[in-house]
Amino acid sequence: MDPSIALNRIADIVGDRGIIGPSDAAAYLVDHRALYSGAAAAIVAPASTDEVAAVLRICNEACIGVVPQAGNTGYCGGATPFDAERQIVLSLARMRQIHRVDPVGFTLTADAGVILADAQAAAEHEGLLLPLSLGSEGSCRIGGNLSTNAGGLNVVRYGMARDLVLGLEVVLPSGDVLSDLKGLRKDNTGYDLKQLFIGAEGTLGVITAAVLKLFAQPRSVQTAWLAVTDVDAANAVVGLARRSTGDMLVSAEYLSRTSLALVLEHLDGARDPLAVAHEHYLLIELAGPLDELQSRALLERLLEEELAAGRVVDGAIAESNAQRDALWALRESIPEGERHAGQCVKHDISIPIAEIPAFLDEARRRLMPIAAHRLSVFGHLGDGNLHYNLVPPAGEAFAPETAAALTGMLYDYIDEIGGSFSAEHGIGIFRRDELARYKSPLSLEIMRSIKATLDPHGIMNPGKLFDAPDA
Ligand SMILES: Cc1cc2nc3c(=O)[nH]c(=O)nc-3n(C[C@H](O)[C@H](O)[C@H](O)COP(=O)(O)OP(=O)(O)OC[C@H]3O[C@@H](n4cnc5c(N)ncnc54)[C@H](O)[C@@H]3O)c2cc1C
Repeated sequence: MDPSIALNRIADIVGDRGIIGPSDAAAYLVDHRALYSGAAAAIVAPASTDEVAAVLRICNEACIGVVPQAGNTGYCGGATPFDAERQIVLSLARMRQIHRVDPVGFTLTADAGVILADAQAAAEHEGLLLPLSLGSEGSCRIGGNLSTNAGGLNVVRYGMARDLVLGLEVVLPSGDVLSDLKGLRKDNTGYDLKQLFIGAEGTLGVITAAVLKLFAQPRSVQTAWLAVTDVDAANAVVGLARRSTGDMLVSAEYLSRTSLALVLEHLDGARDPLAVAHEHYLLIELAGPLDELQSRALLERLLEEELAAGRVVDGAIAESNAQRDALWALRESIPEGERHAGQCVKHDISIPIAEIPAFLDEARRRLMPIAAHRLSVFGHLGDGNLHYNLVPPAGEAFAPETAAALTGMLYDYIDEIGGSFSAEHGIGIFRRDELARYKSPLSLEIMRSIKATLDPHGIMNPGKLFDAPDA
């Protein structure tokens, strides 16, 4: 089918409201970090699963690429289209109904276009908790969260997005709808097909709805900002915090002094929570069934023990929601602080947790001779997931070949020690070459054969994860 005929038919299906005009197009064509600026033949925003299915059927027939887009906050250019004639953006933004919060089954059923914060609020309204939580939760959407298998701040206790999914509705490239929104907790009936689409970054089909697991709202939350002697000590504190509280630890974030200093230097109103500067910090949060007094006593006892053991050297416990927010703002503002400091070379890596201290020493030893830099390391220590970001010396910038050499050396080393070059941000187009290099040939072969089976014409998000067929 001729592409222009296909586009006209698509316009008929979704109607005027379903076609984003040129004046609003820019926001859909550039990724959040402005690394990629793309082009598309049309930006299409269907209002229902039936419309998504009809659009995909036409695209499949006309071999038009479909780039699903939810909140467009992804870090790897996965939602950016790259062909002004033969690709469309398929935005889920109009599909934003929360169908059900089930207080008995502890589930939430929602369209893929629901903003994460709205889903959290709907759960909270019923006294329940949707624990998926990320800095972008005010704009990212459920479909994007599942397609990237998002991690975030509560993984140490509740797992990644993948762990929170009980059911999925997906439109396949053929236009067929694979629907499982029963929300069963137990269903051992062969392959768990929904897991294929979680983390697939839109390369296998379009997620249109999901059933997510909910949990009890904690009775109280305690937040502490700790200075620790080193990363070994940080790991020990995290381990003890899990064991001694019966797994009430919901967040365990590490911050290096450099990361904190970038925030303090560049952001108005940011204040160091402690009187004296330290090299290593932990931001931990306990939440669970204990009341305010009991959980506070538990946290204080933990800190006393760790101070006595010499692993914690200083600390502050949030006394109010405002103080808690201020501590989290320091953590959440690091990317902005880094932005002010220059064009950083960023990495989102996973390391076996016990090996992180040795990794940090050795990585520094290997990378420093390549180019002088400041190291901004922070992230989800409790999950073994660090953001390992290299900041250029003041007033300088890394040459592209220097940046590539730094990243290459780092990833080779991570591969050596059994880590991963992409912990939670995915692949998209940004880390496509690394996927080809570091994923095992057998894994790649299986991935490609799944892709070929579900998407024989290669219309789903062409050029993401793998090279485009004609590349
Ligand atoms: C301030 C900030 C903080 C962040 N913190 C974290 C963090 O802590 N942890 C983390 O993991 N990420 C984090 N991110 C990255 C990002 O928010 C997540 O990857 C998020 O899950 C992306 O959701 P989205 O709705 O914006 O998806 P998009 O960016 O729109 O899409 C992401 C990918 O999913 C595909 N996709 C989108 N919707 C669908 C669908 N319905 N069906 C099929 N494929 C689809 C797209 O094609 C693309 O490949 C952060 C980003 C920002 C800006």
